[in-house]
Amino acid sequence: MILLDGKQTASDIKDEIAVKVKELKAAGKKAPHLAAVIVGDNGASITYVNAKVKACEKVGFDSTLIKLPETITEEELLSKIEELNNDDNIDGFIVQLPLPKHIDELKVTLAISPLKDVDGFHPESLGRMVLDLPGFLPATPYGIVQLLDRYNIETSGKDCVVIGRSHIVGSPMSILMARNNKVGNCTVTLTHSRTQNLADITRRADIIIVALGKPEFLTGDMVKDGAVVVDVGITRVADETKKSGFRLLGDVDFASVSPKCSHITPVPGGVGPMTIASLMMNTLQAIEMK
Ligand code: NAP
Repeated sequence: MILLDGKQTASDIKDEIAVKVKELKAAGKKAPHLAAVIVGDNGASITYVNAKVKACEKVGFDSTLIKLPETITEEELLSKIEELNNDDNIDGFIVQLPLPKHIDELKVTLAISPLKDVDGFHPESLGRMVLDLPGFLPATPYGIVQLLDRYNIETSGKDCVVIGRSHIVGSPMSILMARNNKVGNCTVTLTHSRTQNLADITRRADIIIVALGKPEFLTGDMVKDGAVVVDVGITRVADETKKSGFRLLGDVDFASVSPKCSHITPVPGGVGPMTIASLMMNTLQAIEMK
């Protein structure tokens, strides 16, 4: 079993980006500038946004963290987004999800300029992905594609099962794995909560990408020998033995699944860091697309 080390791969990608930023600066151009908007004080969201800002520092990007109160109105948030859309100094920005219940996430996603949509959630970005046109790929699926690519995982002609059909992970992932590309050309089955006999489907899969948000859902009996398993799930589970008071669990029962796999991602240290690396790649691309 080979561990797909997202932490190391993301670090390699960030080193490569840092070199490109140095070249930009040496050519008298400005460093890419990423802004991150966070609403409220959700602990997990704060951790993710801080990690994104830290990654910007590592690669030499400028970054701006915009903290807004939980009580902000939808109108006020939309007006902040408009400000960022029109700010020439900002090359790309993200609005960290989830948002408070009184704010419509779709409205917010639609308000972000497709030219600055470095999370890749805007319908224009998703449409470009489907049509194989240049654009921003959604950060998590993009990170998974990068990880498979850098480990030279053969995907062509393979059976790939994606568990979960969210707009930000499962659905775009299924499209990317089916595309005619180096990482792609799979026969993809996209599964969800209404799927019948899921274990029969996953047992046939060469590649399983698990993104449903249910800790240790995929177990060893659901996986065939030699499968490649990518675990997207991150759930915080209370753990008094940890200083933070919690530990992170993936959607894969690592103990029973990993002995059967040819390759598997760990949690933490798998898909999470790759998502951040992809965000950095998209932000660099934003400046190139200008
Ligand atoms: P989501 O929006 O909650 O979607 C979950 C999907 O799983 C839904 O499509 C749902 O089906 C499906 N599902 C639920 N129960 C199922 C079951 N028993 N069998 C098959 N499918 C089932 O989740 P998400 O935003 O995609 O996130 C999934 C996980 O990935 C979460 O743990 C999240 O924290 C994590 N995540 C990690 C990263 C990262 O960077 N590592 C990034 C994003 C998300 P229905 O559509 O039928 O309801």
